[in-house]
Formats: sequence, structure tokens, C-alpha cells
Amino acid sequence: MKRVLLTLSGALLLLSAAPQKTMYQVMSSHPHDVKEMSPYIQTISHQGRLWLVNLKGKTPAHVMKHLRATNGQDVKHYLAQEAKAFASSSQITDFINRIDINSIKHDVEMLSNFKTRLAGTADNQKATAQVQEILTRLGFSVQQICYTSGACSVIADKAGDGPSNDVIMLMGHLDSVGKNFAGADDNASGTAVLLEVARVLKDYNNKKTIRFFATNGEEGGLYGAEHYASVLTNSGDIKKMVLAINMDMVGYNSNGIVELETDSQYEDLAKWFASLATTYTGLKSKITIGAWGSDHVPFIHAGVPTLLTIEDWSTKTPCYHMECDKPSTVNYKYAGEIAKLNLAAIMTKDAE
Ligand SMILES: [Zn+2]
Repeated sequence: MKRVLLTLSGALLLLSAAPQKTMYQVMSSHPHDVKEMSPYIQTISHQGRLWLVNLKGKTPAHVMKHLRATNGQDVKHYLAQEAKAFASSSQITDFINRIDINSIKHDVEMLSNFKTRLAGTADNQKATAQVQEILTRLGFSVQQICYTSGACSVIADKAGDGPSNDVIMLMGHLDSVGKNFAGADDNASGTAVLLEVARVLKDYNNKKTIRFFATNGEEGGLYGAEHYASVLTNSGDIKKMVLAINMDMVGYNSNGIVELETDSQYEDLAKWFASLATTYTGLKSKITIGAWGSDHVPFIHAGVPTLLTIEDWSTKTPCYHMECDKPSTVNYKYAGEIAKLNLAAIMTKDAE
């Protein structure tokens, strides 16, 4: 943690001594984008998901769209070593113990058995229908919401028992970049964990509405999430959302670290998750302030307290967006820990 902060403050000092030069956060890890950007950027620091750069000069628009100007105060990356455990709840522990990693494995394989899950393809539609069917069988109120013809996300609501209008949402994208029989970590893992948390919560008496949102078109540009966030904003229902959790790439890991990512106004939410991780899982937490690159972003922009849970980015899958992103590479025990963390967060928030 210290090293990161020193790197950052070192960079800030350097900036204040030199003529002010705007600092930018890089908001893509796609090898193609990184290659396009590289002639125009100079790295200040690169820690996990937080990559800060200066621009060398005039930069074309297609590169600028992956860069966000930052004052250095609204971005941070640190290991949450100070995370204190809460007093655990026996009810939450009881439900956490029902998480079945074999069932997560089964669903990662099921989703990876579609030749492609690229949004809008026939196989993507079959995968969407499959996710819808599983959630329907659990007894939830399920619908598809399409951001364009033939490309739809799935929304499943488990209504609360009480008078509360509050909604807690768990999401993960079901589409892939379209490589053959791939996308196991990105993001069959997040979708499979979503389905497993849904299975376990089927028998839980929630007070608030719990919503499962399997998004589509994430890889093309967060289309499903952007669309739904704007639908909720226009109807006013966005105000009911008290917590949203995104899971994107939660299946490749060897060091037990989960990255918790949001923007600076929700840093306390990330710290709260770090404490839950200490209480209910074997995970260590890294916090990234400076959200980018997945479905949590539109909900943060819409004013919903939203967090991304993602595998440690500095040791992420070597098969990112490649055909070798297969179920055999997935660490199911790790995915199960992510399931426990997010289940604990949902139940704790529900009990408030
Ligand atoms: Zn993804």
C-alpha cells in the first residue's frame, strides 16, 4: 500500500514542480487499444487497474476516448490492509455455506459451450434464454430488456417481504468477445456466480427487493447496462437502488486478492466490502478508486452506490479476450469466495 501511495504522491510532486500538465487515467486494457494509445502516452504510474499517464502532445479522438482527465485526488489504488472484521451474523454464515462451487463450475461450462456469446448472435440469444430459464425456475419475476433488436439482458426480481421500495442489484455480463467456445473467465464466471447467489437466496426472506441483472453487450460498449441505467433514470426508479454490485472476471486468480473498484464518492462502500471480505471470506482486498471498463460505470454515473468485484488485475487471466479463456483455467474456489462476499453484502444491506 505504501509503495503505491509514494508512487502517486511522487508523481503529484513532480507535477506541481513542472508546469501543470493534465494527468489522465487509462480506461482500457484491450491490447488493441493499448497499442493504439502507446505512441501518445507517457506512464506516470501503473498499479493494478489504476494506470495514470501524461499525454505527449496532440492526441487523436479515438485515443482520447480511453482517457479520463484526473486531478490525482479522485484516483487511488491500495491494499486494504486496515480492513477490520465485523461481528459476523450466523444467518449470513448459514447461507454462505450453501454456496456450491460445483454448481458455479457447471454454469461456467454451460455458458462456454456456446460457440460464441457475442451480443446479437443466435448463440448469444440462446445463452440469454438459458439464463432467463434458470432464473425463472427459481421462482423470480423475470423479463428480458433489449437495448437493440436481438440483443437483450435479463432482469430477475425477488420481491421483498416488507414495505420497503429499496432495490439491491447484483449484475454480471453474459456476453463475450466472441472467441470460439471461450469467455469462461470473461464473463461466464460472473454470470455463473450470479446464478449461484440467486439459487442460494431463493430461500432467504428478504425485506428489500433483490435484483439479478445479467447484462448483454458489455464487450461492445456497456450497451445493456447503459440502456437499463437510462431506463431507470427516466422512470425515476433509479432512486430506489441502494446498492449495485458488478462481477466481471471473477474466475482467474492465484493470490486470493479481489479488486474492489468504484469512484471516489463511494470509497466508503469499497472499504465496507473489504471488511465483509475479512469477516466472511478468505479474500484480501485491493481498492481501486477510478472506475472504468465495465457495467458498474453507468450506474455510478446514475448516482447508485455501485462497486465492481474483479480478479486481481495485476495477475489477471493471460487469456483475456483470447480463445484460450476456457473453463479449465477457472479457479472455482476463488469464484466461490467472490460469491460469498457478494452474498454477504446483499444480506447485510438487506438487513439494514
Ligand atoms: Zn468482461
